[in-house]
Amino acid sequence: MNLNIRYNPNKFIHVGEISLSEETKKLLKKSEKVYFENFDGKTWYGRCIFLSWYCSLGDCTFCFRSTQKHKIKHTEDSKRTMASVLLEALFCKMFNWRIEFLTGGYGIMPFTDLLEFTKNVSSVYGQKIWLNLGIISEEHLQRLQPYVKGICASMETLHPEIHKKTCPSKPIEHYDKMLYELNKSKKRFKKSIAVIIGLGDKIEDKDYLFDFIDKHKLDRITLYALKPIAGTEFKKGPDVEEYVQWIAHLRIRFPKLEIIAGTNLRRSEEAGYLMKAGANAVTKFPATKQFATKKAKLVEKLIVNEGRNFISNLSKLPEIDWNGEIDKLLIDEKYKVRMKEKLNLYLEKFENPIDVDKEMNR
Ligand code: SF4
Repeated sequence: MNLNIRYNPNKFIHVGEISLSEETKKLLKKSEKVYFENFDGKTWYGRCIFLSWYCSLGDCTFCFRSTQKHKIKHTEDSKRTMASVLLEALFCKMFNWRIEFLTGGYGIMPFTDLLEFTKNVSSVYGQKIWLNLGIISEEHLQRLQPYVKGICASMETLHPEIHKKTCPSKPIEHYDKMLYELNKSKKRFKKSIAVIIGLGDKIEDKDYLFDFIDKHKLDRITLYALKPIAGTEFKKGPDVEEYVQWIAHLRIRFPKLEIIAGTNLRRSEEAGYLMKAGANAVTKFPATKQFATKKAKLVEKLIVNEGRNFISNLSKLPEIDWNGEIDKLLIDEKYKVRMKEKLNLYLEKFENPIDVDKEMNR
C-alpha cells in the first residue's frame, strides 16, 4: 500500500517566527518523508491522566515533586477522586483524545486501589489503556492485564551519568528488568518509554536512547521538552531546533516507531514542526483548561497545515447528553452521581474559553 499520499516535497518549510538552521531543515525534510512513507497521516492528541501529585521518591532533580516534598505529608491529600479521573476518561472518549497513560508518582496508593482506578478508566474509555506507574511486579501485571494494553517506563534520560544524577532513586536497571520481564510475560503488553529532552544529553548522545529502544523492541516513545520548574537547577528548556532534531533522528532511525511529542501552552507554536519531525501525536497540551481557546485552535491548525488528519477535538463542543452518557457507563452508581456533580465545572470552562495572555506564559 502506498501511504505516501500527502507528502509534497515542494511544500516544505514555512518558518513563521521560528528560525531553523539549514541542517535542521534538511533533517526535517527527510523525517517528514519517512513519516509519510510509513503512516497515513492520522494524528491525535494524547492525554496523560494523573492519579496523584504525590511521589514517595520525590527526588528527581527536574521534578516539581522534588521542590514540594516537604509540603506533601499525606498521600491522601494529593490523590484525585475517582469521579474526577473518570470524568477525564469520559472527555477522552467523547473528544477522541487517546489516553496516553494513567500515571502518578511512586507509592501513591495500595495496589487494590490502583487496580480499581485502572479497571474503571478502561471501562469508561471503552478500551484497554496504557499505564505509567513505575515498576510493576509480574503478579500485579497479571491482574492488570484485562484492562491494560501497554506499559510505559518513565526513563527521563538514557545517558547513564545524567540519569544517575537526575533520578537518583530510580536506576535504569530496575526498568531494564521490568521491560525484559514484559517481553517474557505470557500476557502480551506493548512497551513504551518517556524521556525528557533538555536534562543535559546532547544529540551526539542519542545512541544511548536508540540502543535502549532496540534492546527492548519498544512500540512507542513519548518525548517531552523540559519545562524548568522554579526551585530546581534547571532554568531553560530545549530550543525548538534541539527538540525537533531529537524527534527527527528518532523518526529516521525508527521509521515505524510510534512517537508522541509533548507540547504545552508556551511551546504550542512549534506543533507544526513536531509534525515535520515525524511525531504521530502530541501530548501534554492542557486540553481541558484550554478547550476551544485560541491556543487549542492554533495547535489544531498547525497540525492540519502539515497535511495531517487530526482526529482529536480540542475546540468544538459537540451536542452531547452528558448525563445520558454517564448513565450508560458500567461503573458503580456512586461514581456516576459524583461525576454528574463535577461535570458542570468542566462544561462551563469548555463553553467559556479564556485565552491566557501570551506574555503570562513566557
Ligand atoms: S519518580 Fe517521577 S514523580 Fe517521582 S520524583 Fe521522579 S519524576 Fe517526579
